[in-house]
Amino acid sequence: MPIGKAIGIRQGKRMAQKKSQHVPFHRAFVGKEEIKAVTEAIESGWITMGPKTVEFEEKFRTYVGAKYALAVNSCTAALHLALEAIGIKEGDEVLVPAITFTATAEVVCYFKAKPVLVDVEPDTLNIDASKIEDGITSRTKAIIVVDYAGQPVDYDRIKRIAKKHKLSLIEDAAHTLPSWYKGKKVGTLADITCFSFYATKTLATGEGGMITTENPKWAERMKIMRLHGMNRDAWKRYAKGGHWYYEIVGAGYKYNTTDMNAALGLVQLKKLEMMWKKRQAIAEMYHKNFTTLPEIICPVIRPDRVTSWHLYVIKLALEKLSIDRAQFIEELAQQGISTSVHFIPLYRHPFYQEKFGFKAKDYPHSEWAYERMISLPIFPGMTKDQVAQVIDAVKNVIKRNRHV
Ligand SMILES: *Cc1c(COP(=O)(O)O)cnc(C)c1O
Repeated sequence: MPIGKAIGIRQGKRMAQKKSQHVPFHRAFVGKEEIKAVTEAIESGWITMGPKTVEFEEKFRTYVGAKYALAVNSCTAALHLALEAIGIKEGDEVLVPAITFTATAEVVCYFKAKPVLVDVEPDTLNIDASKIEDGITSRTKAIIVVDYAGQPVDYDRIKRIAKKHKLSLIEDAAHTLPSWYKGKKVGTLADITCFSFYATKTLATGEGGMITTENPKWAERMKIMRLHGMNRDAWKRYAKGGHWYYEIVGAGYKYNTTDMNAALGLVQLKKLEMMWKKRQAIAEMYHKNFTTLPEIICPVIRPDRVTSWHLYVIKLALEKLSIDRAQFIEELAQQGISTSVHFIPLYRHPFYQEKFGFKAKDYPHSEWAYERMISLPIFPGMTKDQVAQVIDAVKNVIKRNRHV
């Protein structure tokens, strides 16, 4: 289906044909097929975790080429289970990038452990591998990396550092589906990989997540802790052939998903690469138009990586403009373009400042990028007209506010 024909559920034809309408930041690419799948899951009479979840895990596992896949109700839950499985304890330290969503670091705090922020590379906004060792102490137990906007971090280099210091490597792959590092699909690059199926992500089920790992011991622990610390497939206890007996082996969590959610996920997984190609086409149009503008710094993708294009993040060359980023966003909004900022660096939030004393001056690249970054709309149902409208609006704002 060409981009111009793509539609969401509700937007109908109006938006596809008419210019200068509001362009949303995101719209989930769900339709009749998803509705049918969820309806079937409901009609099956088994609406919580069950056979659909098992099927989703199996298909996902096969798609990324991992040994184990566990469906959960969010990426945050996945990260929490991952840290529990590797044995994070009070007083431990875990390295995380300074620019990420709070979920990456909040899960460290659940254990009364300390997130240690590492500055990012100014061009990719991924964790700067050359700065990781500066943050390692005798208390460091793990590194959580984030593949920012969908571009994998430098796994070869970071894995070498993790091995040298005996640290676990956890991947927050909330943006990274599908993405490739040196030809290898994300899902087996780190010790444990955590995906998000939140409404705005590249595979969306409303809420949801998946954990993949090659380690049977961790997989077993996460599977048990996902559902109350029950030591067997306790979700089967009400099914035919299920058994009533189980034992509790830990103070587990309620992080399982549902078959309605898994049914949605199965359809989305089938559409994944088609949706990715649509985002890719949008990114190419943006790139073609923005790369010649001295006021815009386009995303940089390293030659050995392939991005999912979850986000398209431009940076403003502020010295060439008479306005700041906030005003730029405001003027785009006045032209009907919704944008976002990914992310407000963790050290700028009151909780992290007060609890850990983080200071902006320690993360110069993050600070530089934060003042300049804007996430433009990029979603599979976006029409050519909508993309053109965003490009025109960006050019207009520049024209009006160019330093002369
Ligand atoms: C969205 C996101 C998460 C959280 O995902 P949920 O599924 O909503 O828990 C974690 N990390 C990053 C980088 C994200 O963008």
